[in-house]
Amino acid sequence: MAQISGSEVLHTEMASLKPAEKTLLLVEDDRALAEGLAFTLQQSGYSVTIAASRAEALAFQRRCVFTVCILDIGLPDGDGFSVCRHIRAAGDTAVLFLSAREEEVHVVRGLELGADDYLVKPFRVGELLARVAAVLRRRSGSHDNGEVIQSGGIVLNLKTGRVRQDGNEVFLTPTEYRLLATLMKQQDAIVPRERLLDALWDSQGRVVEENTLSVNIRRLRQKVEKDPERSRRIETIRGVGYRWIG
Ligand code: CA
Repeated sequence: MAQISGSEVLHTEMASLKPAEKTLLLVEDDRALAEGLAFTLQQSGYSVTIAASRAEALAFQRRCVFTVCILDIGLPDGDGFSVCRHIRAAGDTAVLFLSAREEEVHVVRGLELGADDYLVKPFRVGELLARVAAVLRRRSGSHDNGEVIQSGGIVLNLKTGRVRQDGNEVFLTPTEYRLLATLMKQQDAIVPRERLLDALWDSQGRVVEENTLSVNIRRLRQKVEKDPERSRRIETIRGVGYRWIG
């Protein structure tokens, strides 16, 4: 990791921000890690603001809107989850959690709060850059006007319940439709299995079993993937859930 002086990195250019610039809030209490990451992110064109605590993060978040927030889970004055909740309530900032190995089991909670992705420490900085870029790409590639979700050649009309792929109608069962709608609404985010199971409760209130979820995902892939064996659109996040890539 590059050694650089803290003042250089911590210098925040919020006052001179051009609107089109990618603004990034980095919430991380490990100063050396934060400075190293900030340096690399700045080299990649992000304008970086560092917060070393929950309180600092919330103060910055109240003052400006960020394109993306990289959020450490373990902070000296609380956890990253509550910061995520504030960010989600305030707007459209993408959120990527950083988690220590022992916190990985809690990552699902972050995803349930609407985080887009997570990385477990230690990670390569190139991996972080790739993940942040992917999250932003997916966000700009999706279009959701409240009635129609459009992504990756699939158009899902929430009002009529019809799904089209490259202009052709795709015929889905109600369960497959609910799955697809839940995944597409959360484009760019990992949707935990529990949340998908909640969405699949049938009209009689019967609980849907885990196995039913897997079967329906497989059927859905056969209908919306060009090559279901090498799924591109519905990514499996092992042990956690699924993600719509589009
Ligand atoms: Ca920490």
